[in-house]
Amino acid sequence: MTIATALAAALPEGTVLTDPDLLAGYRRDEADLVPAGTPVAVVRPRSTAEVATAVRVAAGHGVPVVPQGARTGLAGAANAVEGCVVIAMTGMDRILAIDPVNRTAVVQPGVVNAVLAKAVAAEGLRYPPDPGSWESCTIGGNVATNAGGMCCVKYGVTTEYVLGLEVVLATGEVLRTGRRTAKGVAGYDLTRLFVGSEGTLGIITEVTVALRPPAEAALTAVAVFPTTAAAGAAVAAIAGEGLSPSLLELLDATHLAAIEAYRPMGLRTDARALLLAAADTGTRAADDLAAIAALCERSGADEVFAATDVTEAAALLEARRLAHPAMEKLALESFPGGNGGLIIDDVAVPRARLAELLDGVDRIAAEHGVAIGVVGHAGDGNMHPNIVVDRADPASLERGRRAFDAIMRLGLDLGGTCTGEHGVGLLKREWLAREVGPVGMRVQHAIKQALDPANLLNPGKIL
Ligand SMILES: Cc1cc2nc3c(=O)[nH]c(=O)nc-3n(C[C@H](O)[C@H](O)[C@H](O)COP(=O)(O)OP(=O)(O)OC[C@H]3O[C@@H](n4cnc5c(N)ncnc54)[C@H](O)[C@@H]3O)c2cc1C
Repeated sequence: MTIATALAAALPEGTVLTDPDLLAGYRRDEADLVPAGTPVAVVRPRSTAEVATAVRVAAGHGVPVVPQGARTGLAGAANAVEGCVVIAMTGMDRILAIDPVNRTAVVQPGVVNAVLAKAVAAEGLRYPPDPGSWESCTIGGNVATNAGGMCCVKYGVTTEYVLGLEVVLATGEVLRTGRRTAKGVAGYDLTRLFVGSEGTLGIITEVTVALRPPAEAALTAVAVFPTTAAAGAAVAAIAGEGLSPSLLELLDATHLAAIEAYRPMGLRTDARALLLAAADTGTRAADDLAAIAALCERSGADEVFAATDVTEAAALLEARRLAHPAMEKLALESFPGGNGGLIIDDVAVPRARLAELLDGVDRIAAEHGVAIGVVGHAGDGNMHPNIVVDRADPASLERGRRAFDAIMRLGLDLGGTCTGEHGVGLLKREWLAREVGPVGMRVQHAIKQALDPANLLNPGKIL
């Protein structure tokens, strides 16, 4: 019996897709220029039991399994492996409980981030992690990549909100990790082991998250800088003074021009870099924002202005959220033939070294003859240098790849990490090995071997 027939026999009607046209839609995530295979079947489970069945059947046939959320990933981690079974988790999309007393929510992994954020807001609570893709990415994908976002500079990344998980293991057994209590230290922290594991250790079927009280309304300001490095220096100065902005994002000139072309909104396209800052400290917010503005000016900002009202602040935030599609369009149109693409990088350095990273990226762009736009969560020292390449031109691709490697090397030399939030996936495997070294890799392999000895879960990703 083929794997597709066996899955169809074991699962409810309509759960298994085998139509080649439909399968093609599940090949890859949003990462450009990384390989993807074609699945032999896609399973769309509605319950943990169905996930466990699919894993058991696949394991019985020795066929790899690739879990997918909304496929907004930017490292190829959700890309199908040739001949695999994709388990598409978007159908498991129920919010199972919101508990205002314990400030927790229990959700299925296919719940979209924005849906959870809005549902808990209606109960007077907040789920802070807010990736730029929040209107489409899933909580399961967020947990599996340990996603960050704009408010993470003050409120922390996904892992800080994950209290417990239900996970289907490679054996098809169901593991429950963590707790629903405010505290708990029983045993090894298996919850954190699965956070960021990119579908390589198990398939997450339920997530218990911690919630917070709502934030106070934020005041927003924009600082205009003559260089990206000056903006980086301002970030270090703000952190050095012990200020806690609720948002501190950087957009360079390339991104400002791309966004303005994508959706004209009156952005300062003459600026080399903009820092977008917000303070949500209630009655202290105006003073905190004034202190941030003063530090920006001291670091070389040409101009700092406050958003006049909530609508203007929301528009600035919207501009930041449009950075990715706008830059994709710019890349597409940058070369005759419309074959332009992006190598999207994700590097994080200690905040004190951010200016060096940004200077270095400018230097690398010039040395390799490529355009690189920089955007990112500056307050976390986490930047996304986006390298523009012509997919149809091997020389352009080669220059782009060399520039990518040079940025990775620079990030590590500055004491940083090869990925702040997008994950390792297929894109950064070589760089993970360089970052963690041979002992680190031996431990990583030992964990994988213990949980997935036949290497069936998302093989070839991370390790
Ligand atoms: C416009 C845009 C903006 C973005 N902004 C940010 C940002 O600000 N911060 C950030 O961190 N990322 C960002 N991303 C990247 C991406 O949205 C995140 O990595 C997100 O967490 C992926 O969620 P997803 O549901 O799309 O997962 P997918 O892309 O489908 O999968 C991602 C990984 O999770 C695994 N996975 C998915 N579901 C499960 C499950 N239930 N069990 C086990 N493994 C699973 C997959 O195998 C894969 O390894 C952005 C992407 C885009 C396109």
